[in-house]
Amino acid sequence: MGFEYTIFYFFRNSGKKSSDIKIGFESGDHGDDNRFDGPGNVLAHAVPPTDGRLHCDSEELWSIGAIPNYVDLETVALHEIGHLLGLDHSEVQDAIMFPTIPLGAVKDLHADGVQGIKTLYNI
Ligand SMILES: [Zn+2]
Ligand SMILES: [Zn+2]
Repeated sequence: MGFEYTIFYFFRNSGKKSSDIKIGFESGDHGDDNRFDGPGNVLAHAVPPTDGRLHCDSEELWSIGAIPNYVDLETVALHEIGHLLGLDHSEVQDAIMFPTIPLGAVKDLHADGVQGIKTLYNI
């Protein structure tokens, strides 16, 4: 029997209050020294708080779910949120923190990322 802990809370902020994470779609040179490169290659980037930027390249073909030649937004968001929480890239190919993903693929949490968070947050 195990215990479950909730250590992160995510809620939408109207933008009037400061927030730890700011998510947006951007393209090309968008003012943060991390220009996007159009379709393919770099899909998104994130910088941990207090910066808290999570940008997705608006020129990708985004989807929700596995659609051939599209990029699954939830998979990429999960990867980038991993960076926001402090995780680096993983060499485990099935891990959400593996640096690349084939078009049309969907990934979920993997023991590798879960263990990474447990280690980082000492839980
Ligand atoms: Zn950016
Ligand atoms: Zn990454």
